[in-house]
Amino acid sequence: MHGKTPEQLLAMLDEAHIQAKVAGGAHSLCFLNAVAASQSMSRFNFRSEIERALQAQEFELHFQPQVYSDSVRVSGCEALIRWHHPVKGFISPMEFIPIAEETDLIQNVGNWVLKSAFTHLALWKDAVPKNFRMAINLSAKQLISKDLLPYIEALIKTHGINPKMLEFEITESAIVGNLEECIGLLSQLRSMGCAISIDDFGTGYSNLGYLKQFPLDRLKIDRCFVKEITHSAEDALLSKLIVQISQTLGLKVVAEGVETEAQYHLLRRLNCDYLQGYYFSKPVPADEFLAILKSPSWREVETPVIGQDTLLIVDDEKAVISSLIRLFRRSKYHVISTTSAKEALELLAVQPVGVLLCDQRMPEMSGTDLLRRVKKMYPDTVRIMLSGYAEIDAVTKAVNEGAIYKFFLKPWNDEELVAEVNSAFLYYHAKLADT
Ligand code: C2E
Ligand code: CA
Ligand code: CA
Repeated sequence: MHGKTPEQLLAMLDEAHIQAKVAGGAHSLCFLNAVAASQSMSRFNFRSEIERALQAQEFELHFQPQVYSDSVRVSGCEALIRWHHPVKGFISPMEFIPIAEETDLIQNVGNWVLKSAFTHLALWKDAVPKNFRMAINLSAKQLISKDLLPYIEALIKTHGINPKMLEFEITESAIVGNLEECIGLLSQLRSMGCAISIDDFGTGYSNLGYLKQFPLDRLKIDRCFVKEITHSAEDALLSKLIVQISQTLGLKVVAEGVETEAQYHLLRRLNCDYLQGYYFSKPVPADEFLAILKSPSWREVETPVIGQDTLLIVDDEKAVISSLIRLFRRSKYHVISTTSAKEALELLAVQPVGVLLCDQRMPEMSGTDLLRRVKKMYPDTVRIMLSGYAEIDAVTKAVNEGAIYKFFLKPWNDEELVAEVNSAFLYYHAKLADT
């Protein structure tokens, strides 16, 4: 090994040590090849840079609001670290946290985060709403450190913080590696009044047995499920399942990565308790977060018309939509329409739809594909297809699968269609009463 300075050599040895551990146990030997050596050089730089940055105060905490799903009022925030490097500019925590985690530097970074978080909490004491909580991320190494609990206790005392204002986020993988130690530590934090949540839930460990043994308050549905939740039947079902698991275990659910109005409404309807994401706010510096806390009308969100039966019309031909709207103009239904199947899925996410009238041949997605998804995601919505004769095979197949309730050949007879939509709404209410 040809390191230039003793520090660099030590860094490369450290790297070999880490790799040996990853490769399997304390006794396995690991030889650095050229690639690993060059990686370790950049890591070495990173490590000394992180140490320097701590001294030079280049880190900052940003805060992302979390809101109650029913009122969109701020319930708390998540503290997220930011690094303003004097030369490289902004460095994402996704880049430096894993490197800090591989070394013991995460203890220093983690302690800096805790100290800074408590300092802000102490300043905000009079501005925060009732039951406000700040969530702080803890990494696996911090959890097994004997120093963590006394450090937190000392900060609580120094800053006069009510432990009920604190929440600690940990990932499944951090727990599973250190089950015994974690149970002890987290039970103590909880008995003080702090909350514990599982971060990135559903992406890591799949054995759910640990949830029962574990002192917990909340699960955070990972962003990867939320991203496609309004379009993917699988992601919607998985999210629903996570909410059900939480309810069974008496836990609350936070969904993260909420970016659109449709995602917000769907998660609210799935009974997620808290929401977090760019749709409400990006993580912001402390002064901006304080401004959010002080502004009651911070985020006005339109609530959809509910209580009236909604009829959704989907057809890529505007003329067809116009004539159907005319047909139902005097009906008692709340009629909404779109020329796009994708937008139809968003409209379905926003509000309960009793009856869906849908064309078969559309450019983005066929009507049968749309109705199959709707059957899985919103089984109560009664699905009616309007189609030309040429699509009869695809439609017959979907009817036989139960994706379509009634099928009308274009051009339709107005009176018959109105009668069928009326009876479809009766069927919808009968289904709702059943569940
Ligand atoms: P995480 O704990 O899962 O944090 C959520 C990440 O999602 C944050 O990224 C946040 O900015 C981002 N995010 C929030 N809402 C949205 C959204 O609507 N859309 C999208 N695309 N992203 C959204 P960030 O701040 O870059 O942090 C990345 C990861 O770095 C965190 O993931 C966490 O694992 C780690 N991290 C950040 N701060 C700390 C810290 O203080 N301590 C530790 N141990 N890890 C931290
Ligand atoms: Ca987190
Ligand atoms: Ca068409």
